[in-house]
Amino acid sequence: MTFELPSLPYSMDALQPYISQRTLEFHYGKHHKNYVSKLNELIRDTPYEKMELDEIIRESAHMSDEDIFNNAAQAWNHDFYWHCFTPKAQHDVKDSSFINLINKNYGSVDNLKIQFTNSAKKLFGSGWTWLVLNSDGSLSIQNMKNADTPLAHDQVPLLTCDVWEHAYYLDYQNERPKYLTNFWEIVDWHFVEDNLNKSSFSKVGTNKNQSTGKELSS
Ligand code: MN
Repeated sequence: MTFELPSLPYSMDALQPYISQRTLEFHYGKHHKNYVSKLNELIRDTPYEKMELDEIIRESAHMSDEDIFNNAAQAWNHDFYWHCFTPKAQHDVKDSSFINLINKNYGSVDNLKIQFTNSAKKLFGSGWTWLVLNSDGSLSIQNMKNADTPLAHDQVPLLTCDVWEHAYYLDYQNERPKYLTNFWEIVDWHFVEDNLNKSSFSKVGTNKNQSTGKELSS
């Protein structure tokens, strides 16, 4: 199949002043677009051509097809990253089961934010900081290098921050910590909660019906 650049879930100027229109014009309009175009070139006339994007990521990781993995994972990671933001951000986590899970793993939502931010500050070079759900139902904060993605590690991505310089250099130059502080102003917690709630891993140890994901009435 030929992949298309997915549309942004908001307008190019919607995340200002935290992420500028100019950054989105380059980051979405050029970097993200280029990963998608490059992927289409690389998979042409290969077995990958018939796969969905997540299948390409898993298979190319397994087969060590580095170019295909890098472009497929970057195409997927960026689409996920755009959805982590909303211009109508609510700063509080609303879902009580998610709050309980965060409290169990990190003590508090504020502490989760601090640990995620510290992790992103420490990532050397290019990569992504992720909040993931593990198969045992626990949460982890992980730095991943370059294009690496939780999809290649059987983890469920809940939230990510792109810490490649191209994500922040136009707005913040070398000041990654300022970008990270402002990151929390636009996080879409509904999206994060949805990622948790639609995952089969999130039902580990809870009273949910495996096939429908709905709470049992018992
Ligand atoms: Mn990027």
